Amino acid sequence: MECNINYVGKWDEEDVYYCVNHHKKASINGKKLDECLCNKKDYEKSLTINKEDIHSIIFTYPNLLTNLESTLKVNDKEINILYIGKSMLEKRDFGGLLLAKLNNINLEVEVCPYCNNIHSDDGKFAYKPHNPHLCAYCGRLFEVDHPNIGNEITTIFNISDLNLDDKCLEIESELKIEYDVLKNSLLVNNVCCNRISLNDKEYYLKDYLNEKLYNEF
Ligand SMILES: [Zn+2]
Ligand SMILES: [Zn+2]
Ligand SMILES: [Zn+2]
Repeated sequence: MECNINYVGKWDEEDVYYCVNHHKKASINGKKLDECLCNKKDYEKSLTINKEDIHSIIFTYPNLLTNLESTLKVNDKEINILYIGKSMLEKRDFGGLLLAKLNNINLEVEVCPYCNNIHSDDGKFAYKPHNPHLCAYCGRLFEVDHPNIGNEITTIFNISDLNLDDKCLEIESELKIEYDVLKNSLLVNNVCCNRISLNDKEYYLKDYLNEKLYNEF
């Protein structure tokens, strides 16, 4: 898919151009680029599907001790981008959903007044209520009535709260997080728990992931 780059105004005082096809910035220091800053390869692994045809969505961080890479499998097919109707869901949106659910956030439906798409928050924005929001679809900042958090996935699927067992799991060389979105199940190294212990220190899973994924937006 070719880039489709528009001027969207200023972010932090700097002129910004934005690609609405890849949802990425397309300028550096206020100067427009010929192509946006996305990795085009990421978009080769995408899936366009009706929501009725989806029977499983598994979002995984294979090993957070070594890197922040994630994988998304929809109906057992590994993809980076999921297109459902006019929605474009990226891996980070599932990470955002996971953080919001771990933090018991009441997710609100915020619609961008410029492009009418629904807003999703990721990384620290998935658990810190904020205003304005930056729309990933069109790259514009928009104001809402009060600081809040949203995630488009909740408007497509029924996402319940997570129920984690009151249990601490000791972590050694691997920290795999597996979120089964449609079953509302979250496993750490295949175990359901709300705490982990790492190098003799105990953390609430929520606190550990909040910090680890802070910049994943
Ligand atoms: Zn682009
Ligand atoms: Zn936001
Ligand atoms: Zn927008």
